[in-house]
Formats: sequence, structure tokens, C-alpha cells
Amino acid sequence: MRIIRYLAQEGDIRFAAEQPDGRCFDVRGDIFKAFEVTGHESNMVKLLAPLEPRVILCIGLNYRKHAEETGAKIPEWPVLFLKSPNTLQNPGDPIVIPTKLRSNEVDYECELAVIIGRECKNVSKDQALEFVFGYTAANDVSARDWQKRFSGGQFCRGKSFDTFAPLGPAILTRDEIPNPNSLGIATRVNGKVRQSSNTSDMLFDVPTLVEFLSGSTTLYPGTVILTGTPEGVGMAMNPPQYLAPGDFVEIEIDKIGVLSNPVVAEE
Ligand code: MG
Repeated sequence: MRIIRYLAQEGDIRFAAEQPDGRCFDVRGDIFKAFEVTGHESNMVKLLAPLEPRVILCIGLNYRKHAEETGAKIPEWPVLFLKSPNTLQNPGDPIVIPTKLRSNEVDYECELAVIIGRECKNVSKDQALEFVFGYTAANDVSARDWQKRFSGGQFCRGKSFDTFAPLGPAILTRDEIPNPNSLGIATRVNGKVRQSSNTSDMLFDVPTLVEFLSGSTTLYPGTVILTGTPEGVGMAMNPPQYLAPGDFVEIEIDKIGVLSNPVVAEE
């Protein structure tokens, strides 16, 4: 099933199931417990990010060529950092380049986002995917100056500016993607391909990440795991090419679709 979240004409926020012909029907119930698709066609005012994450867990350096392009060592264990949930941004809404706490180095990162659907702790790799609700696309937007130079080695500041986590356009439930490590993944900026890879290139695959993360920490429904980005980030270009107001970023993942966001400067 393909699930979206939207603002309805009545002013409330709803989930809906998107059909192959593009029509959407409202969902009744809790998507993480029991729900059903109704016969009520959605009256959408605006498409929203497909969920409000409880927490956003991020894996760094999870593609070999990306680790190499940043000059980092290939990690022995998955590298974990967090993004604040208030970074969430909707498909189509702008990535805002901060000007008050200024950044001149805002970058894109296409990532497969895993959405946990059932509480789990200490799960094995073999069982891990049973706890996944589904998958969507993410842009792990990063202010490289605040990630690398101005924050004492802590990633969270440079990763947690408002609007730095566009998610969407839809959740594909896990039955639609039996193997999450076989998906083409790409970024385009102003129509030009910057990143183009496959999730099969992950150093630590999705089951391994769920096993690893749940090994220390209970994962609750609504946990979003960003699984790392492949090579081709703006920081690694020669010279580096960071995002600027007026740019248009598209993240595309097979089956999930295209997550598009314009770039603007903070007012
Ligand atoms: Mg990332």
C-alpha cells in the first residue's frame, strides 16, 4: 500500500491510501495499530510529510564511495547521529538556508528512510524487517560548516536546522518492498544528476541497522531511520557546489517516487 498524509479541506490532517490511478482514499484508525481504507475519496488541500517522526536516527558513512569521498575511514560499526524531529519538511515546501546563524555550506543527501511500525528491542537481523512499517525518501540536508567545523565535532547542529529533513512523498508499506537493499536512489539539483546509486551499496544493510539500533535502544512506532547517502554530495565536488536560493532539489527512489523541494534563504 502507498500511504500519504495530507491537509484536508475541513482543516484536519489525515492519512490516505493512494491508488495506482492517483486517487486517494482516507484511512481510518492508527496506521501503526489497526487501520482500514475507507471509500471516502480524499479532499486534499496540501500534501504533507507522510508522518511526524517520533525520533530521527541517522546513519553516517553507510556507502563506501561516500565514505571515501569525505576522506573518512570505512566504519567498523554503523555511525549513529540524530536529527531533531522539528527538522521535518513537507514535499514541495522549501529548504530554508539559515542566515541568522549563517551557513554558506548547505548540502543535500538522498537517503532511504525506514519507518518502524512495531516496538522492538534486541531483534535479530533475521526478524528485523518484521518490525518495519514501510519506507519513504528523505533528504538529510546538512550545513557542512556547522556539521564539521563550528560544533566541536558534534553533527547535530549542522543537521538540525528547521526544514532540513524533507520526507516523502509517500510511505510504501514493507510488503511492497521485500528487499529494501535493491532500490535505485538519486539526487538531481536543477535537473542535473548529482547522486546516482543503489541501496544495495550500503555497507550495513537495513536488517543490520535495525538489529544494531535496537540492540541498545527500544525502537518505537514512528521512529525514522535515515540509512545514509551515496557518493556525489556537493561538499565532495571540485570545487564544492552547495545549495543556493533558487535551486530545486529532487530525491528519487525506485517505487517510492520523487521528493522535490525548492531552496530559499531565511528571511
Ligand atoms: Mg546523511
